[in-house]
Amino acid sequence: MNKLKIGWAGLGNMGTAMAFNILNSGYELTVFNRSKDKEQVLIAAGAISAKSLQDLASHCDVVFTMLSDDMAVKSVYNETDGLLSGGESGKLFIDMSTVAPETSRHLSTLCKTKQVSFLDAPVSGSVQPARDGKLIILVGGDEQDFEKAKPILDVLGKLALHLGDSGAGSSAKLAINYLLGINIQALAETVLFAEQNGISKENMLTIINEGACGNGIIKLKTPSVLADSFPPAFALKYIVKDLRLAKGAGLNSPLSNPLLTTFEAAAADGLGEEDLMAVIKHLRGS
Ligand code: NAP
Repeated sequence: MNKLKIGWAGLGNMGTAMAFNILNSGYELTVFNRSKDKEQVLIAAGAISAKSLQDLASHCDVVFTMLSDDMAVKSVYNETDGLLSGGESGKLFIDMSTVAPETSRHLSTLCKTKQVSFLDAPVSGSVQPARDGKLIILVGGDEQDFEKAKPILDVLGKLALHLGDSGAGSSAKLAINYLLGINIQALAETVLFAEQNGISKENMLTIINEGACGNGIIKLKTPSVLADSFPPAFALKYIVKDLRLAKGAGLNSPLSNPLLTTFEAAAADGLGEEDLMAVIKHLRGS
């Protein structure tokens, strides 16, 4: 059993997979999720359930959060009945959600006033890399806190990079998700254009994946494009969130604005809960 007691708040698609890796590598793990039913699989595997966020913070040495968005993270860190509501001095909190760099800096400042260390550590990689412990972890905050966290981050990812002060991890995450969005829309448009001219999606995907234009994300999404089925690994609503956050952080380039417009329109079509590759249905008009 590793000595540090780890806490985990946020057991969605990513958080559950990541928390399992913490548990399986021998740490004592305490979990908290707003919807308590999602805690059950981890409790069955040996995790402890925290009664409250305050309980989680006071029981654990290091607390991870993996939550949907800025509002969720701010609410979980709140000083009334959240992680920062008492008994947390001397702890290390690590937020792995994708949020605005400004939110990460705000949380870091708030944590400092409570003698709590804070790292922003969003991840590149989806549910399968999360299950496999193969995420790329993008970290902002004090180097010393990063070094303390590194052995635990190594359980979650294949690479943890310290990128600078608070907010640097979130800035890097918005940049990589911009590239993700471009790849997904480009793949959808390419397949649809080929089909319009009589080239099957099977053949087009073979051409892409056998050549230099094939890349990791295209290979990953190929089965869902072939099956025309898009169960959420990375929900489309989250790329809309991230592209909006990127715009808020200053992204204003020739491709970025139409990209955001496309994904916003796809979400308005009711595709927000499907995987982001479902943008192909919006572009096809069905
Ligand atoms: P998800 O499956 O939708 O899970 C969201 C989690 O946030 C759930 O535990 C949810 O609790 C919790 N939550 C939402 N609002 C809350 C609130 N107000 N108070 C307390 N808890 C709240 O999302 P996910 O796919 O795991 O993604 C989590 C984060 O990682 C997002 O920021 C996303 O952008 C980022 N990310 C996702 C992927 C991916 O492929 N999925 C990859 C990289 C990064 P309930 O269960 O009670 O709803």
